Amino acid sequence: MLNKEIRLASRPTGMPTPDNFNTVDEDMPQLNDAEVLVRTRYISVDPYLRGRMREGRSYVPPFEVGQVIISGVVGEVVESRAPEFAQGDIVTGMLGWRLYNAASVPELRKVDPRLASVTTALGVLGMPGLTAYFGLLDIGKPKEGETVLVSGAAGAVGMTVCQIAKIKGCRAVGIAGSDEKNQYLTAELGIDAAVNYKSPEMSRALKEACPKGIDVYFDNVGGEVSDAVWPLLNHGARIVICGQISLYNLDKPDVGPRPQRYLLVNSAMMQGFIIRDYAARFAEGVTNLAQWLVTGKLKYAETVVEGFENTPKAFIGLFSGENLGKQLVKVT
Ligand code: NDP
Repeated sequence: MLNKEIRLASRPTGMPTPDNFNTVDEDMPQLNDAEVLVRTRYISVDPYLRGRMREGRSYVPPFEVGQVIISGVVGEVVESRAPEFAQGDIVTGMLGWRLYNAASVPELRKVDPRLASVTTALGVLGMPGLTAYFGLLDIGKPKEGETVLVSGAAGAVGMTVCQIAKIKGCRAVGIAGSDEKNQYLTAELGIDAAVNYKSPEMSRALKEACPKGIDVYFDNVGGEVSDAVWPLLNHGARIVICGQISLYNLDKPDVGPRPQRYLLVNSAMMQGFIIRDYAARFAEGVTNLAQWLVTGKLKYAETVVEGFENTPKAFIGLFSGENLGKQLVKVT
């Protein structure tokens, strides 16, 4: 039996392309004691991986050229040399873009397939869901009746933020890149309004959608979208810097209207965060998200690309908005 893995072939300049990746045949991994062999079922592709393809200091080391890409994976244990895991267990962990990974016990967490679809371990009950939960509740601190504006609203993190804002009794307004996505946000998820940032009327539409101004801005996107938000901030606004996807493929710094004056005159607070800061509280987050999920208060969407070899394509598609909700690759 042969294994396959997808490596970084070269560092992208600008938008990543399929040439930045190569798929290589490999021998099957040999298990050591206390390791398990995991057959990949689903791979999560995530915008932050673009940052790891760039050289330089960040909160995680960059991938080396020639190295296998690593991201969230859900798989099935097909062989175990660790008493903690049995053949047939469904597990998740940060593993290689491979058909099979050898993994040690601390790298893996069991997934309960009876609770929800196993794919949710990579989405609403996994890293994106936790990012939405802690970013909004711990930093945004939304209060009933306030207006919460979310950019990247139709993605995995964004749609979860919008719905938690509704659960907390807020007016939830989303910004996304197509009318179809916005229709989904308002009609299916029940958020109060949604604005298409590709419309030339975006600034006016934002003002109309937020007639009482903005108390919490959950920013996944940055750039010109956020520039349109600053003039609408209310006194005491909280700005959660979760992501800046509009900047990830730029080679030069992006300079727009600087937000400091708006923070100053509104006594507003802007804070960035990385979800692993909250690792000690993940169990609390998953418990609450799962509770909302099973009681129907929280919905999720997934876009699933079929085929291991299409993983780079699915990743690249994140930067042109091809996904509604969590972008996954179905491997087996
Ligand atoms: P998404 O599911 O939101 O996918 C990315 C979406 O971003 C696309 O669907 C697209 O939607 C939008 N987008 C792409 N390019 C642009 C652009 N140039 N301008 C505006 N929107 C764009 O991904 P995630 O939910 O996984 O991640 C959302 C954000 O959260 C990212 O910025 C990510 O880096 C960040 N993040 C941060 C974490 C943290 O710890 N701080 C953890 C996890 C994610 P559209 O059609 O609307 O353009």
